Amino acid sequence: MTKILAITNQKGGVGKTTTTVNLAASLAAAKQRVLLIDLDPQGNATMGSGIDKAGLAATVYDVLLGQKVIREARVTADAGKYDVLPANRELAGAEIELVDIEHRETRLKKALEVVHSDYDYVLIDCPPALNLLTLNGLCAAQSVMIPMQCEYYALEGLSDLVNTIRKVRTHLNPELEIEGLLRTMFDPRNTLAQQVSEQLQQHFGEKVYRTVIPRNVRLAEAPSYGIPALYHDSQSKGTLAYLALAGELLNNASRTATETI
Ligand code: ATP
Ligand code: MG
Repeated sequence: MTKILAITNQKGGVGKTTTTVNLAASLAAAKQRVLLIDLDPQGNATMGSGIDKAGLAATVYDVLLGQKVIREARVTADAGKYDVLPANRELAGAEIELVDIEHRETRLKKALEVVHSDYDYVLIDCPPALNLLTLNGLCAAQSVMIPMQCEYYALEGLSDLVNTIRKVRTHLNPELEIEGLLRTMFDPRNTLAQQVSEQLQQHFGEKVYRTVIPRNVRLAEAPSYGIPALYHDSQSKGTLAYLALAGELLNNASRTATETI
């Protein structure tokens, strides 16, 4: 069955896009069929996948407004061996244009219904806001991955996000679950980071991924070449961490499958 994951946190710069791009490449390297959906008008995941956001014939914007279907708008990211439903600045207008459209929160969900069987994983990179675009991501997804930096305000932001997820579950998408919390840009020498990490584990237990993403310059450099870190430096700590995260997801998925048999 296709797994649809929204990578979200309304806090900016926590590693959502870095996670989406590198997890997509890592899952693809493990022979999974992956679609990355860029739901952010910044188009960072599009660029980071080596796709020129200026020269696109169609984008996720056209899909949300019902002018194109995903099969017409998706492009293959040769740099990472996965498909991308790209975005550019045009998407910023969708927020306003969608307001008067029927079922405005479930436009992406509807559009995905016809293609999700083409994929094992669909990863949705959300913008840093709890807006209508993010809501479309949360309605289309079965679960949410929350990347976060282990710093003082992180826990406070997390309770807002958890409340939003609860509301979405009550009103729009009853199946939505928290897939997991991912500690990003982690520096083990930082005492505060260690303390916040421990608090996270106390509060969320099993929901915190065992894999921790370290602060690693290769992860920050790779987007400037338009490639995932795996193809920039296959042995870097950042690359290995995202490969491990993909392994953890695949293990969890097979464990859940065995439990339901
Ligand atoms: P936004 O909220 O603006 O969409 P984001 O949550 O998607 O941001 P990213 O764009 O992935 O965050 O990361 C923010 C910055 O931190 C980028 O410059 C990125 O290259 C860098 N970065 C992300 N993860 C790491 C890491 N593990 N090590 C070093 N740099 C990182
Ligand atoms: Mg981003």
